[in-house]
Amino acid sequence: MYIEHLSYSSISLYFDCPESWRRKYIAGEPTKKTSALAFGSAFHGTVERIIQNTQYDWEGIWKEEFNKAFTEDISLEPDETPQQYYNKGVRILSNNKVKSAITAIKPRYDNTGAMIERKVELRVPGVPVPVIGFIDIILEDGTPADFKTSAKSWTQDQANNSLQTLLYLAALNQAGFEVNWRFKHFVFVKTKTPQVQVLEHSHRPGELFFLFEMVKRVWEGISKEYFPLNPSSWRCSEKYCDFYANCRGRYV
Ligand code: SF4
Repeated sequence: MYIEHLSYSSISLYFDCPESWRRKYIAGEPTKKTSALAFGSAFHGTVERIIQNTQYDWEGIWKEEFNKAFTEDISLEPDETPQQYYNKGVRILSNNKVKSAITAIKPRYDNTGAMIERKVELRVPGVPVPVIGFIDIILEDGTPADFKTSAKSWTQDQANNSLQTLLYLAALNQAGFEVNWRFKHFVFVKTKTPQVQVLEHSHRPGELFFLFEMVKRVWEGISKEYFPLNPSSWRCSEKYCDFYANCRGRYV
């Protein structure tokens, strides 16, 4: 077994179901690319490009990012079409509140350019591989932030409880970046009348002990090849687990 690095999503998958982690990262079983993920990735790419130059043709950028993300292997629900997703993106990007929110987002610059989509690496004592991640943007005032698309509004608690943001802040801190321990989420809500939420929350440096312990325990589980099945996970269904047909689904 050779693992080069961990990431927040791999750690989170291990917590949800260690067996699904094994199937994905060791057995290399294929995973589905869902339409919601493809939409999120296209929208995300569009926002990042617009922020770097608000004068561009927004719909043209959306079209390019959409075509990049919606490849033929995307799994659509029976009543879905790619065109519906394309139109949804156009509708969100044409909304005046969304337009002014995106136009107001200003990145920090360093000697390599706008601090957008920056790779970070966290080293955890006792864990031989780094935990890597990509921070969507570092804002002008030094606050890191990310862009999310969501079917419904986020609650402040949802933002506050994010361990992913703690991981990013810890990695920035380790790299010598002056962090204010705050993190911002820009949530684009895909409702009929689109909305943008800007949710900020902060972490305390003391939380790092919990984060490190959590990563260490996951690593211990992986290195001892401890991969129990977790039928009580929210993932354990045909809809949410990519491996259901070859795992629990074989027996039903
Ligand atoms: S079907 Fe259930 S137990 Fe099997 S890998 Fe998926 S989540 Fe885990």
